[in-house]
Amino acid sequence: MQKIGVLTSGGDAPGMNAAIRAVVRTAIYRGLEVVGIRRGYAGLLDGDFRPMPIESVGDIIQRGGTCLFTARCKEFMTEEGQRRGYERLVEAGIEGLVVLGGDGSFRGAKRLSELGIPTVGVPCTIDNDIGACDANIGFDTAVQTVIQAIDKIRDTATSHERTYVIEVMGRHAGHIALAAGLAGGAESVLIPEVPFSLEDVVAKLQRGVARGKKHSIIVVAEGAARAVDVGHYIEEKTGFDTRVTVLGHVQRGGAPTVSDRVLASRLGAFAVELLLKGETAVMAATQNGALVAVPFDEVFASVRQPSQELCELAEILSN
Ligand code: ADP
Repeated sequence: MQKIGVLTSGGDAPGMNAAIRAVVRTAIYRGLEVVGIRRGYAGLLDGDFRPMPIESVGDIIQRGGTCLFTARCKEFMTEEGQRRGYERLVEAGIEGLVVLGGDGSFRGAKRLSELGIPTVGVPCTIDNDIGACDANIGFDTAVQTVIQAIDKIRDTATSHERTYVIEVMGRHAGHIALAAGLAGGAESVLIPEVPFSLEDVVAKLQRGVARGKKHSIIVVAEGAARAVDVGHYIEEKTGFDTRVTVLGHVQRGGAPTVSDRVLASRLGAFAVELLLKGETAVMAATQNGALVAVPFDEVFASVRQPSQELCELAEILSN
């Protein structure tokens, strides 16, 4: 193997740049040439390639987003699109591909592998829903961003004796909400994986106020409910002064945390080593801290579930 490609696909996540840097620097260290494919599979189909010498990844480890840009590409979902993508790689002399992204991006990578280009995935999503590994790149940073927001909102919540409902990202998963709710000391955390009743939320709020609580924070995962609906319900049932904050896309940006930078560096480098070892259709990951290659099919079969222990702890500590 002499030349490999790297692309970022699907939703961006803080730490993608650190992973790109690790791929490029490890590959060059191993005597390989690296081609950056811009805008994910869309750029692959357009031939939007550029060489990535060692200096091309300087000064990016601390930046959120992705210097290769990312995209969603419907055309690549078709057999014809996948074949064209394969042909583009062959034309460019690319003999292996590292795909930084989520579940959908790995499905595309699996197709390329079946067509004959070895592919290795690196799990990048703030949602942290890719299973069969300890953590996904970007999650820790997103939770850190949410915590900073909750801490600030708590100051004003206390001053005004208000109830705040804060909606966080995570698509269909509640990992961000659970971690941020626990670390941010929320009164209630609503996530899609665990059934909840707004009556219980209200009853808990009222118990807290009766005990003399000056403020309440309720964290809602976007996949569980709309914060504005929860806020209306609470205000209607209790008459408490209630405010709603939807944190939105601030959660996707910002400098990656140390954990995300270290994870991204390890997995980016390991992805290159896996290609050199002849592996394909696998995800570079850590399990119990150790580097492992997980077959894509195993990844597709294992969506991460929120830890029962953390759910119980969040409940106990918020009483
Ligand atoms: P993520 O990788 O973050 O899960 P998406 O699910 O949007 O994001 O997938 C990113 C891109 O991966 C899609 O726009 C598409 O080009 C490609 N992709 C997704 N699913 C498949 C699939 N089943 N087969 C081939 N390519 C796919």
